[in-house]
This record gives sequence, C-alpha cells and structure tokens, in this order.
Amino acid sequence: MRKVPYRIYLSEEQIPKQWYNIKADMKAQHEPLLNPGTGKPLEEKDLYPIFCETLAHQEMNAADRYMDIPEEIQEYYKIYRPSPLIRAYNLEKALDTPARIYYKFEGNNTSGSHKLNSAVAQAYYAKEQGLTALTTETGAGQWGTALSMACAYFGLDLTVYMVKTSFNQKPYRKSVMQTFGANIIPSPSDTTEAGRAILEKFPETGGSLGCAISEAVETAVKTQGCRYVLGSVLDQVLLHQSVIGLESKTAMEMIDEYPDIVIGCAGGGSNLGGLMSAFMQDKLTGKANPYFIAVEPASCPTLTRGRYAYDFCDTGRITPLAKMYTLGCEFQPSPNHAGGLRYHGMSPTLSKLYHDGYLDEARAVEQTRVFEAAALFARQESILPAPESAHAIRAAVDEALKCKEAGQAKTILFGLTGTGYFDMTAYASFHDGVMNDSIPTDADLEKGFASLPKVPGQEE
Ligand SMILES: *Cc1c(COP(=O)(O)O)cnc(C)c1O
Repeated sequence: MRKVPYRIYLSEEQIPKQWYNIKADMKAQHEPLLNPGTGKPLEEKDLYPIFCETLAHQEMNAADRYMDIPEEIQEYYKIYRPSPLIRAYNLEKALDTPARIYYKFEGNNTSGSHKLNSAVAQAYYAKEQGLTALTTETGAGQWGTALSMACAYFGLDLTVYMVKTSFNQKPYRKSVMQTFGANIIPSPSDTTEAGRAILEKFPETGGSLGCAISEAVETAVKTQGCRYVLGSVLDQVLLHQSVIGLESKTAMEMIDEYPDIVIGCAGGGSNLGGLMSAFMQDKLTGKANPYFIAVEPASCPTLTRGRYAYDFCDTGRITPLAKMYTLGCEFQPSPNHAGGLRYHGMSPTLSKLYHDGYLDEARAVEQTRVFEAAALFARQESILPAPESAHAIRAAVDEALKCKEAGQAKTILFGLTGTGYFDMTAYASFHDGVMNDSIPTDADLEKGFASLPKVPGQEE
C-alpha cells in the first residue's frame, strides 16, 4: 500500500506569503559587489541606474529574514502555484532502490521552468516604480519566456538578447516570446557597443550569456524609463526562488518526511539556492544537517574547476564585480545543449556557502550520462525533463543507486526545474548517438582565468 500519494499538493493558502532571505541566517556574508572602476564596494543607490530601486534594496538586504510578497505577486503565483512535490515511485522501482525519491516540479507553466517565480516579481517592481521597459538576456530561452509572460501581464516593453546558438537551435522559443509581445535580438548583435566589440574579437562566436548580459545592460542604461533584469545569480533572484524550498518543506512536513540529500542543477545558482533555502536555514541554525549537492555540466565546470575570485558578471566587462566561483568572464563554453547551465560564474551567495562548506558538494556530469538519466526518468515518470533539470536527475539516480549498494533508505529531494519540449535537437542528437561530451582542458580553463580582472587585495 502506498502511504504517500504520487503528488503532494499544497492548497492555495499554503503558497508562501513571504520570501525567505537566507543571508539573514548566514554566519558570514559574501564579499560586496565592487565598482570595477574604483574597486570600492557598491552601495544600494549605485545600483539604481541598472536595477529598479526595490530590487536593488533586496539585493543588498542581509538583515530581514522574511520579506512580504506583495499582493499582486501573490495573485500571479496563484495562476501556476503551488507546484507539486512528486514521489518518484516508478523511478524508485526501476532502480530497485530503498531510497525514497521526491522532486519538486517547477515546469508546470508556459515558460517551462522555475524562472517565472522571479520574473513576475521583477516585472512587478519595475511597474511599481513607473518604468516602462526592461531588457534582459536569455540563454536557453526559459528566462526570456518567463519575463515575456510577466511583462505582458504588467504591461511593460521587453527586449531580450538571446544567445545566438540558442536562437538558431530553438526558433520556436522566439515565437513564444513574440506571442507575449517581446522583441528578440540574437546576441552578439550590432545593436550595442558591447556586441560590436565582441563580434570584432570573435566574429564566429555563437554568443554566451555573459555577452548577452553586456548588451542588455548597455541598452537598459541608455534607454529612458528602462532597467535591466537578470534571471539568476543575484541575491534578489535567490530570494524570489525561496518559494520553491518553502513549499517543498511544507509539503514534506505534511507527509512526515525530511530530506537527507537535496540536489539541484546549478547554472547561475538560483533554483538550487531557492530549493535548498528552507533546508539550509535548518543547517545554518543547527536544527538539521541535510547534504546538499550542486550539479553542473562537465563542459562548464564553474564550481568544480573554477576559481573563487572577483570577476565581471558579463563578457563585455561593464557590470559590477562579484566575488564568486568563476571560469573567467571571457570563458566561452563549448556548445552544449544545457543552455541554462552555461554561465561562467555562480551566485555569490551559493559560492560563499560552497566555499564555507555548507553546500556540501559540487559535481560535474557529462552530457551523455545526463541524457541517459533524462530518458530513464521520462519513461518512468512521464515527464519530459529539460536538459538542465536532467543534471539533477543524474545525481539523484546515482545517489539512489548508492543507497541500493549500501542498503540505505535515504530520502532524496531534487529540483525538477523544467520541461524540455524546446530541446528536441539535443534529444535527437542523443538518440542518434552523435552527442559528445566536450570537457575543457586545463589549458582551455587557463585562457578563461587569464581574463579575470586584477583587483587590489584579491587572493588567487
Ligand atoms: C535557467 C534554468 C536552470 C538554471 O537555473 P539557475 O537558477 O540559474 O541555476 C535550470 N533549469 C532550467 C529548466 C532552467 O530554465
């Protein structure tokens, strides 16, 4: 007899009404953002030309443990939340593991990912400030789609710089974003100084998130009534994504469960930051000691092989400097199908938690093994996972197999961040046996590290 249902649903009333700010419980804060010109720490108001004011305030806020979610955002959350926590009975059976596997599924909305949780908040605050337009970048397209939806809802203009390789691989992503009224430009483009400079240096480049960020920031700063928004990495985004972890914890409490292991894929770190937030609070305050695993592609091994250093958040070197794990702002990952995990840096908060040992492990996995896990999962659980999410699936499967080996019935929770309907080129190359695992050599990584900025007092 099944004691726990497949899907553990919360009621509408159980959607969080406050976000949880993990910084309020961290023993030590990450290093401050620096002005790249002066090397001096940035203050909140220094961010106002780039971000809208409330978001700049959230970015700097390490004091308030909980922050109220405005009513309008709560209303929008109700359109697609709460998201289900699902017990992977069929996957467990296929693996013949004593482990209990749960996943929090964030792909049940049109953007196909967790990104909408922050997009709606960022668009709301822009509208509240009286702004009329936003710019952003998108890699795989999920963030661009989520923000297009949010901007359509709040009546804001949106320009999306989309990484050129993704733009070419996923033409229908563009059509979805256009349906919601967004303007899409493949990046690098000749519409910005940053884009033109990058094209001159690397004429053949398929673009990168870092490069698209440069273009989006430049356009925002030069356009009246316009600001830039970012879909991951920043503390404000981790704050908004805390709804994932808060809901997960409530749902697990309802069935008397608590995870021994929490797993998430890590691109810029916001989905994992959000999923683990409520459980990390228990770890930081000594109430429980779950084991946290961040999973990244072997082709873009930011946490596992990167440096913990100050770096630009973009390739064009116009953003503030952040202390984070990074492969260097000019690192160009080889084309890889997990577009959402191809960022050179990592959330400063997640980086700090990893550096200080609270985020227990980072693991890099090869693309073909990720798609093997994706196919296994799809067949057992009847959900077509996004390639990004399949990184977490890979690690969850490997942990469940370890449990089988050891005869241990651990509770595993992982984040299923989204669906993969726009990733059929990737699935096709996997099925056709032509997918490769491009792993950068140490020499490749050295080239990226050579682009790290020199900052006074920065240790190697
Ligand atoms: C963007 C994205 C990711 C990466 O998320 P981060 O929060 O940046 O780590 C993972 N999965 C999906 C489906 C995404 O769209």
